[in-house]
Amino acid sequence: MNAAIMSSHAIELPPLPYERNALQPVVSENTLNVHYGKHHKTYVDTLNKLVVGTEFADMPLDKIVKATAGESDHTAIFNNAAQAWNHTFYWHSLKPNGGGEPPISLKRLMESSFGGVADCKKELAQAATQQFGSGWAWLVQDGEKLKIIKTDNANTPLTQRVKPLLTIDVWEHAYYLDYQNRRVDYVNALLDKLANWGFAAENLGK
Ligand code: MN
Repeated sequence: MNAAIMSSHAIELPPLPYERNALQPVVSENTLNVHYGKHHKTYVDTLNKLVVGTEFADMPLDKIVKATAGESDHTAIFNNAAQAWNHTFYWHSLKPNGGGEPPISLKRLMESSFGGVADCKKELAQAATQQFGSGWAWLVQDGEKLKIIKTDNANTPLTQRVKPLLTIDVWEHAYYLDYQNRRVDYVNALLDKLANWGFAAENLGK
């Protein structure tokens, strides 16, 4: 990449790792058209406008999130950057024909941290269901243990001393077209049929 392109670099909307109809019937093509094509794209487009002429203009996305977290002068940049990062992580947390048995490395940690795969899923589903208002539920690694955490709005474990492994978006825009107010049905269907445990296992130790 030449210097001119580097200096005018923009954060890009990453391609979805599957077709927009690939998560049906759990998540509809209609939802992905709006959620990825409108919401995620808008976070990226807004971020690119906000960072013009700032110290963040040439930073990679994860650096922008970390540099603006908790900085009251940069709330809008943080919100759009963190949402851009969280959404890419979310798309990779899902896959067609997901769910099922996690890879052995992850399964062992689920057993030692929660009792078993079912207990881990139950705790993650509870966090996703109980998050009040907009936010995210996360499976994270904290040293030798796995934990479940919730973050509100754009907040993200990327800025915390834990490693994110898998996330569920529980903003209403993630499920309202398909499930209306039934967040619990969305969460359980996602975990049973779309959870990308291989992606979660790849994130261990990173
Ligand atoms: Mn979302």
